[in-house]
Amino acid sequence: MLNIRYEKTTNPKPIPGPENPLTFGTIFTDHMFVMDYSDDKGWYDPRIVPYAPISLYPSAMVFHYGQEMFEGLKAYKAEDGRTLLFRPDKNIERANNTNARICIPQIPAEDFLQAIKAIVKTDEAWIPTKPGTSLYIRPFIIATDPFLGVRPSHTYQFIIILSPVGAYYPEGLNPVKIWIEDEYVRAVRGGLGEAKAGANYVASLKAQVKAHDAGYSQVLWLDGVERKYIEEVGAMNIFFKINGKVITPMLNGSILPGVTRRSCIELCKEWGYEVEERKISAEELFNAALDGSLEEVWGTGTAAVISPVGHLRQGDTDVEINGGGIGELSQKLYDTITGIQLGKMEGPQGWVVEVE
Ligand SMILES: *Cc1c(COP(=O)(O)O)cnc(C)c1O
Repeated sequence: MLNIRYEKTTNPKPIPGPENPLTFGTIFTDHMFVMDYSDDKGWYDPRIVPYAPISLYPSAMVFHYGQEMFEGLKAYKAEDGRTLLFRPDKNIERANNTNARICIPQIPAEDFLQAIKAIVKTDEAWIPTKPGTSLYIRPFIIATDPFLGVRPSHTYQFIIILSPVGAYYPEGLNPVKIWIEDEYVRAVRGGLGEAKAGANYVASLKAQVKAHDAGYSQVLWLDGVERKYIEEVGAMNIFFKINGKVITPMLNGSILPGVTRRSCIELCKEWGYEVEERKISAEELFNAALDGSLEEVWGTGTAAVISPVGHLRQGDTDVEINGGGIGELSQKLYDTITGIQLGKMEGPQGWVVEVE
């Protein structure tokens, strides 16, 4: 149990009202949670302080060797006024898996959850209520030793910031266009792919710029070895519905194990779909698109929840999926997951956690 110290702002910012269209990740609330770590003290001085710049030495290891992890989840305001988190235990478990992979010390799960709840409670008034909006929660940890040389840091800072957000894609649930990348790779087995680390995103920038320049909004990554099998999209996992079956690439060490991915698999199974977690090649996918058996494609992630894919392109070939529209199952998954997140629908046991 953390003994959190509070230092509230004396200069609160105006909270954006419902008349303001919210974008993603541009506005931050009044406070942040901060906790320090050193090898001799462990995690210490948990505090909630005004959202403000932080002070680090230019030699802080995070700037040079990228020892950084992050998480992403959301808080929702239910119609009855309750504040709800969606499966935070899964994010916390993944956070500690990431920590283990990049030599950052573990944070006890109950302390992590307490920190999330405390900061969300503090800035609860910032949770927007319009359909499609929520409060995005971004926990992250940085290596702070003022040291040049490659080794794990002996000191860290754990910070949680909050951002009221609207739809991740300004186009809303409109299908996105996806570029299958065959030159660059994001991750390889044995690398950082299954960890939520900033380093993975640096590796992805070049291909993202290339896809954007060609008029596509996201990159679909192929495996780093054979460049044949589909892995995932920029910040989302990917699903296909082929001949009535739901197919998603199996977790192989280079794919990020998404909480939304897991939730989709569990819901589809509950609804009686056959769900296959397996290798699927770009070739198999294009063949399915050509012979008409590819029925739906969608991405899954906390930010957009479900993101239907309307176009896929590899090399010179662009295929349109489902007439460029939203598929029935994609829509049902979106309605169900967001319904559960908002407390309007009953989800499986433990999916929704109230912030009291
Ligand atoms: C965060 C993330 C996802 C989605 O995970 P969720 O837990 O569903 O938000 C997928 N792929 C990558 C690379 C990610 O960073």
